[in-house]
Amino acid sequence: MNIEQQITTLRNELREHNYNYYVLDNPTISDFEFDQKLKQLQELEKAHPEFYDANSPTLRVGGEITKNFETVPHTYRMYSLDNSYSKEDLEDWEKRIEKAVDGKVEFTCELKYDGASISLTYENGKLKKAITRGDGFQGDDVTANVKTIRSIPLQLKGDYPPLFDIRGEIVLPFEGFAKMNAERVEAGEEPYRNPRNTASGSLKLQDSAEVAKRPLDCLLYSIVGEKLPIKTQFESLEKARQWGFKVPEAAKLAKNLDEVLEFVNYWDVHRHELPYETDGVVVKVNNLQQQEELGYTAKSPRWAMAYKFKAEQVSTVLNQITYQVGRTGAITPVANLEPVELAGTIVKRASLHNADQIAKLDIREGDTVFVEKGGEIIPKIIGVDFTQRDPSSGPTEYITECPECGTTLVRNDGEAQHYCPNTEGCPPQIIGRVQHFISRKAMDIEGLGGETVALLVNNGLINNYADLYLLKEEQIIPLERMAQKSAENMIKGIEASKEIPFERVLFALGIRYVGETVAKKLAKHYKTIDALRNASEEELTTVDEIGERIAQSVVSFFASEENIAIIERLKSYGVQLEISAEKLANQTDTLKGNTFVVSGVFTKVSRDELKKLIEDNGGKVSSSISSKTNYVVAGDNMGPSKKTKAESLGVAIISEDDFLQMIS
Ligand code: AMP
Ligand code: ZN
Repeated sequence: MNIEQQITTLRNELREHNYNYYVLDNPTISDFEFDQKLKQLQELEKAHPEFYDANSPTLRVGGEITKNFETVPHTYRMYSLDNSYSKEDLEDWEKRIEKAVDGKVEFTCELKYDGASISLTYENGKLKKAITRGDGFQGDDVTANVKTIRSIPLQLKGDYPPLFDIRGEIVLPFEGFAKMNAERVEAGEEPYRNPRNTASGSLKLQDSAEVAKRPLDCLLYSIVGEKLPIKTQFESLEKARQWGFKVPEAAKLAKNLDEVLEFVNYWDVHRHELPYETDGVVVKVNNLQQQEELGYTAKSPRWAMAYKFKAEQVSTVLNQITYQVGRTGAITPVANLEPVELAGTIVKRASLHNADQIAKLDIREGDTVFVEKGGEIIPKIIGVDFTQRDPSSGPTEYITECPECGTTLVRNDGEAQHYCPNTEGCPPQIIGRVQHFISRKAMDIEGLGGETVALLVNNGLINNYADLYLLKEEQIIPLERMAQKSAENMIKGIEASKEIPFERVLFALGIRYVGETVAKKLAKHYKTIDALRNASEEELTTVDEIGERIAQSVVSFFASEENIAIIERLKSYGVQLEISAEKLANQTDTLKGNTFVVSGVFTKVSRDELKKLIEDNGGKVSSSISSKTNYVVAGDNMGPSKKTKAESLGVAIISEDDFLQMIS
């Protein structure tokens, strides 16, 4: 097999495996084997840029940066749907239809997925464009981001038409959403409120590699185009499945309205078992000829109707409002409810978000409140049953002091949350920070768990994470449920954490908004904690993906004398506070066998740094372009003669970002 055939074979195999895994949910090879093949393809593609394919499975990992999303028109308008809320509404609709068309009318019933709508254009079986709904006439081109969603085919199979658009919904399944939130909370960030907004927010991220990390899925339901080989909506779902799209099985051909209602009633109950959010059913006239006869109103098709499920709601008594203090000092008011069943689960607590929310709804202890499970994962209180209110009750007075340490709370301008400013002395903050420090993705200290941390703090043995390194076995053994062996293991685990690399230590420090990815970026850029500490806010924001909010947080972290003292202590104990010389020396082979020519001016790294990066990663730098050159890294103002030469020799011209992606 020649190289081109090898590449094609690998691409086809990977496509099939992607399809088995993400569309059929039925993988036939192990993740490891998959990764091996992907790596092999990546290497071949890197060595042979002449076989580039904009739809290669290797592009699933993203890397393309979109600074501004271009607004583009939809070839076919994306309409809204009319809503109905009852059987009677649906019956009225059916009557209107029967008056307007001849013959028997059948319906396709589908679920109404709650995500971000998307229109995908396929030309000759390849994904050409992905456009958000926008105002229905035009939307944003988010193709680079959408290509990272594994269940969206980049190359179709079967007898697909040469050109068509397919519409669907990009959703974030509950499980992935919960995982993303757990990670955010760990990084001291506010959790996302609901999967729908997070899904649509994801589509507008600038770095497609970030989008690739999000567990997005895409469910498709409608094909539009000219001269399509399709006669009914139900058939089009079947066809889309055959071409490789993920089309949910929960769809039904209904002969009459009674059968539609059966579908509605079934899913009203069973939708809670689905892995993603739905908020209703969409009923569509099945026959496309009849659809055409019915046409559109100014906003929506006459041949389709959304039936909205009622958000499940119950009322119960709010026993007490308590307040939680997080690792960053943020106060969250919590409603402790008389337990009640809602959408299949027992609800005992609901978040009240903040003081404004309590005041707005005038929520008081002892009230009977309405609790709803809508789009949000955590049930929310949507109002008070004022008929049940004790007339002698008074408005809730929000706490002014920290429930844990008594310090007067503060609330910054423009922020909804109150904070306990006693960072150094407030027990849940101290405990939370140490718990974060030792957690698996941070220092990963074996032999020490979250509860033990609380025990150590409450017994006055530690006050911050630096204190961990001074612990002695004799101090630990007398603690509850501690024995010689467990104390030994703990000390061993703490000792071993001195080998944890700088980027993870940086994450472990618990600087607000510095999550895992940001910590990596900062560590790579600054290399030592001292360099990072000396960076100004302006400097920080020039680092890729570091915004003002993160920069401010970093600067204010290092402005604290206590933090500096702790860092100096960590240093003296031997914790890694810079990228180790070994790691710096331990250069990669990523670019081995490739010769680069650097031309122009760069924005993220200097020319010299760029050359160093090439060499550090095993590549060669050459000053002139020849047939031996593999890549030209082109910055601004690249010389025109160089450009012509590269093009005539078929040398790949890549941007600074492409290059950084290659070695990242
Ligand atoms: P609305 O935004 O309430 O007017 O509802 C219309 C939107 O519902 C469409 O733009 C789609 O994004 C979404 N939708 C979700 N599931 C379906 C489906 N099965 N068929 C049609 N539209 C759907
Ligand atoms: Zn406090």
